[in-house]
Formats: sequence, C-alpha cells, structure tokens
Amino acid sequence: MLSLLQARQDKTSSVMSNATELIHSIPVDPLTGAISVPIYQTSTFVQEAPGVNKGYDYARSGNPTRAAVEQLLAKLEKGSTGLAFASGLAAIDAVVKLLKTGDEIVAVDDIYGGAFRLFTQVYEQFGIKVTFTDTSRPENVFEAITPKTKLIWLETPTNPTLKISDIAAIAAIAKANGCLLCVDNTFASPALQQPITLGADIVIHSATKYLGGHSDLIAGIVVAADKQIGDRLKFLQNACGAVLGPFDSWLLIRGIETLHLRIRQHCASAQTIAEYLQQHPAVDQVFYPGLPVHPGHETARKQSKGFGGIVSFTLKEDTEEAAIAFVTATRLFKLAESLGGIKSLVSHPANMTHKSIPAEKRKAAGVSDSLIRLSIGLEEAEDLLLDLEQAFSTTTATFKQTFIANTVTV
Ligand SMILES: *Cc1c(COP(=O)(O)O)cnc(C)c1O
Repeated sequence: MLSLLQARQDKTSSVMSNATELIHSIPVDPLTGAISVPIYQTSTFVQEAPGVNKGYDYARSGNPTRAAVEQLLAKLEKGSTGLAFASGLAAIDAVVKLLKTGDEIVAVDDIYGGAFRLFTQVYEQFGIKVTFTDTSRPENVFEAITPKTKLIWLETPTNPTLKISDIAAIAAIAKANGCLLCVDNTFASPALQQPITLGADIVIHSATKYLGGHSDLIAGIVVAADKQIGDRLKFLQNACGAVLGPFDSWLLIRGIETLHLRIRQHCASAQTIAEYLQQHPAVDQVFYPGLPVHPGHETARKQSKGFGGIVSFTLKEDTEEAAIAFVTATRLFKLAESLGGIKSLVSHPANMTHKSIPAEKRKAAGVSDSLIRLSIGLEEAEDLLLDLEQAFSTTTATFKQTFIANTVTV
C-alpha cells in the first residue's frame, strides 16, 4: 500500500508541486474557525484609540480577505510579498511604477497586447523607453541592455505562439547588469513554474486566467522575491489604489484551491490535442511546448513541470476565411478571448486579440492569417477531439462548396 502510494506521489510530484501544502496554506479563520476564508465586506475598521487597531485601519491599505489571497500567492510563488490588484494590467502597471523617467525596459517581443499598449502608449509618454526583443535567445536580451535598462520583462510561454525563454539564463544576465527581472507567469501558473526559484525578482499574474480558473473574475497578482521591493510595491498598491475587492479576493481563493488538479487535466488534454493536430492533414504547424519538435521543448522541460493548456495551430489553407470558418464551426470550443477557464475556448488572434498589431508585424511574430488558438478546458479530451474533427470536416465542406461556386460563376 505504502509503495503504491509512494509511486503515485512520485508521479504526481513530477507533474505538480505539493497540493497538500497549497490546500493547507489557506488559513482557517482565527476568529470563528470558519474553514472558508470569510468575506470581510467592509471599508473601515473600528479603532480602540487613534492608531490602535487589530492590524487593519482602512480597506484600500489592507483587508483580511485580500490578505489571505496575497499570502497564499506569496507562498505559491516562493516570494516574500504577494499583492492583489483589480486586474492583471493593474499588476503590471504597479511593477512599471518601480521605474522613473529615463529608465528603460527590455521586453519579450511576443508580449501580451495589453502590456504592449501600456508600455508604448502610456509609459513612453512619461519617458520610459521599451526595447522589444526575441527573448527565446538569451543573447538577444544581453545585446538589448543599455546602462539605462532597469527592468527585463518576460512571458514564457508567450501568447499565442507559445515561445519559451530560459528564465535562469536571463535572470543571470539581469543580475550581472543590475536589472530587475519580472516574469508574467499567467500561462504556466505556479503549479508548473515558479520563476522566483529560477532567479526572477518579481512575478505577475493575470489571475483572471488559470488562478481564478472559472472565467468569472478579473484580477491581478504581483509577488516580489525581496522584502524591500515587496514593501515598495505595497506602498504603490496603496498609493495608486487599484486593489482587489473582498468578494473577488474570496472568489480567487476559491479558484486557487483546485489549481493543481485543474492544471494537471489542462496539460494532459492539451498534449493529446496537440498530438492529434500534428498528424491532421488540414493542419500546417502546431505550437505546443510539449511536442518534441517545438524549439523551446527542452527549456520548457527544464524549468516547468508541464507544458500548459494552450495549443495554437495554422491551417494548410493559410487564409483568414479558412480560420474564420473553423472557429465558427466548433461547438464545445466557444469563440471568445481569454483563456484558462473550465470551458474550452477558441480564438482567431489575427481578428481578435492581435487585430491592433499591423499585419506585417503580426506575421513576423508568427501570427499568420490562419493561426487559431485553443484554450483547452476541463471537458473530456475525447469530446474535444470529436468537436475539432467535426469543425475540420465542416470547414473542408464549406471550402469545397465555395470552390465549386467560384468555378461555376467563372
Ligand atoms: C490577460 C493577460 C494579461 C492582462 O490581464 P487582465 O486581467 O486582463 O488585466 C496580462 N498578461 C497575460 C499573459 C494575459 O494573458
């Protein structure tokens, strides 16, 4: 029995970090014994005398429900300080505010569109310059650094082409050049990858995605490795005010409770689907770090416990029309932006998340006209495969008809 348990645990821990630790990191309420963290829906806290309180004075500065999720994330990401924000972008915004006019950022070229907009259309106005580079080659980061560079910004895997960057190698470059390294860990989640253990200084999340996990909230997280940087970020959180409310904090805890279990299933189904797509005659390229042909496969293996739940692919018929026919033909995969929820989603980046990027720039980043992104949910993998199969046959039939119609009219 014990050996069976041991074998199962070895298998589990090779995929995930400790679920027991996660579950028991969520505190039992010290006041009442409530096993679910209470929602402290209050704006202020009564003081016994001026400045004498029970650890909380005003809910922008601190709220017990928010504090519970903040401490939980600090533990999960192995940092000193966790902070919860009203959105992923508010979390990114707080990190950029560590800089001042004249400082520079070196960022992954495949960056999340909202971060690109924030860096280039908001912070450039304040004199913060951003250089974008392909961080999947660490030497590019080294070359892009100038004496003014203060922050290096990574996403790994990236969206939607799942490019992988070597966190430890880039952390060493950051350290040698006196820069902070921040990793947007939204796609991997701490269940698969803990950038601070690889040398990163700061981790951010769009908790809207895998941490929340149920497509029912917008939230952001910052975790700092170092206490002093954490204190500065906490100052900025209070000074600028984009805090996560108590109900959403509770909802986020509720989501994180099953993070390890969900991620395990997302990864397993994504691998099955990526392998199915790889051999499909209508598919050109498949982007999934779990496939040995993926250029980042070895690095992903080294730094992550799994390859995540996002799979992208292009069609042999590399046109927008073909992609649109496909994404409107799926039934279980719902056509929507976002990712990381229990329901599978399909999107067409060229027309949705990446529409604002000029076509040439978009294509250079690997987002071709027919690129389709799947967020693999928690349905049975078999049912998802059947849905993709029927979408492929509908798409092919549509094209045959269009072809015949065109031929006839000519
Ligand atoms: C969605 C997303 C964000 C932005 O988060 P919001 O919660 O939508 O503000 C940032 N980074 C990545 C990688 C994302 O996918």
